[in-house]
Amino acid sequence: MVYASQETWHVAMSKFVNDEEQESMQTDGRAAPQINPYKMAVAQFEAAADRLKLPEDMRAILRAPKRELTVNFPVRMDNGSVRVYTGYRVQHNINRGPAKGGIRYDANVSLDEVRALAMWMTWKCAVVDIPYGGAKGGVIVDPKKLSITEVERLTRRYATEISILIGPNSDIPAPDVNTSSREMGWIMDTYSMHHGYSVPAVVTGKPLAIGGSEGRNEATATGAVAVLKMAAEERKVPIRDMRVAVQGFGNAGAIAAELLHEDGARVVAVSDRQGSIYNQNGLDVPAVMRYKQENKTVVGFPGAEKMGPQDVLTVPCDALIPAATEGQITERNAGKVQAKFVIEAANGPTTPEADRILFEREVVVVPDILANAGGVTVSYFEWVQDLQSFFWSDDEIHQKLAVIMARAYGNVARIAREGKCDMRTAANMFAISRVAEATEMRGIYP
Ligand code: NAD
Repeated sequence: MVYASQETWHVAMSKFVNDEEQESMQTDGRAAPQINPYKMAVAQFEAAADRLKLPEDMRAILRAPKRELTVNFPVRMDNGSVRVYTGYRVQHNINRGPAKGGIRYDANVSLDEVRALAMWMTWKCAVVDIPYGGAKGGVIVDPKKLSITEVERLTRRYATEISILIGPNSDIPAPDVNTSSREMGWIMDTYSMHHGYSVPAVVTGKPLAIGGSEGRNEATATGAVAVLKMAAEERKVPIRDMRVAVQGFGNAGAIAAELLHEDGARVVAVSDRQGSIYNQNGLDVPAVMRYKQENKTVVGFPGAEKMGPQDVLTVPCDALIPAATEGQITERNAGKVQAKFVIEAANGPTTPEADRILFEREVVVVPDILANAGGVTVSYFEWVQDLQSFFWSDDEIHQKLAVIMARAYGNVARIAREGKCDMRTAANMFAISRVAEATEMRGIYP
């Protein structure tokens, strides 16, 4: 394997990101670059492909999303009016197995965002070596502005619209931002109604009562905490008393904060869309979770200083866990990140420019496709259990997950060491080689 210099790939990547052209205002009032996640994903792909010296034909196959479905569909609101929503389902690559990827509900969903997330899913499944391709779905909606019955009708209709793609052997959705086991239950039920019998394996992240798996709810956070521990251990940094900041307080972020709190780390800052809270002595994470449940935000939690939404990224801490959305650590704030470890529980939180700055500053960035792969790994366990109608204990799930995360981390860390590159490049190289090999073995039909 021949490696290009670290500098070469960062230069290659920066030309794909037009962050100097457009500016928007973030919620804290500061100008932030507009990031196109798909351009970012393609740039990361090209950089790894360059190092792998991947032939252009293979690049062309691996670069392109295989299928892209856009659906516009009506939903009846509680007051009798009708609104038309737009949703997407993109399958990036299915050479290693059925497509797999979450469904996101957010006002900022776009086709390019879903394409990027689908491509990252392909590489993620390959990094942890589970037999899936990559997909993602999304609906342009702020579900917090809808009632539960409206969200249910929207979910069931969207599931029906994308039913020409999804299925237990073809494409298996899971939760992502603003969706949870509740929505997965509705999708499983809708799909099953169309078939006349229960098809639990059509989605993962379902409630336990209808074929969900032990350990799925905390799987993403468990994997992220596991890679933080491995990265810290390699550098002889103890987790106990480690100061941690977490951006995003949902499934990935809140549970990661809780697990680290239980392990004796000091969670000094957490945030959500409304803002950040900070206490240098450490937050009482279970109390913050209760506060968030009652108040729908962490902001206002007593005994903590209130800060802007972006401030969580730059507080004094040893480890930073971005667990919100893409494009959060940019060239504007990467120089101010004080953490020595950045563990990407979110997908795409770091721009290529920020990657360069963090690498130069010797900050260890464990990339999304490795750091948050615990989620899809336990989703895979759930699917396997559903297909064989035989369920495993919590202990079995956690043991199997730990083995897979350790193996993937070890492989990526080794490639990074040997290639003197950052872990994102290493993880992409590792994953892309696997997908390229599968593509080569299958050949081109007809
Ligand atoms: P979630 O909806 O449960 O929580 C998202 C959290 O992020 C919320 O607290 C929200 O307020 C906050 N947030 C959103 N935008 C923000 C912003 N701009 N600034 C600060 N906070 C913001 O979603 P989740 O499932 O925890 O997903 C979070 C990230 O983790 C996403 O990037 C997702 O793709 C990734 N991820 C999730 C899973 C999973 O299993 N849920 C698996 C792999 C990756």
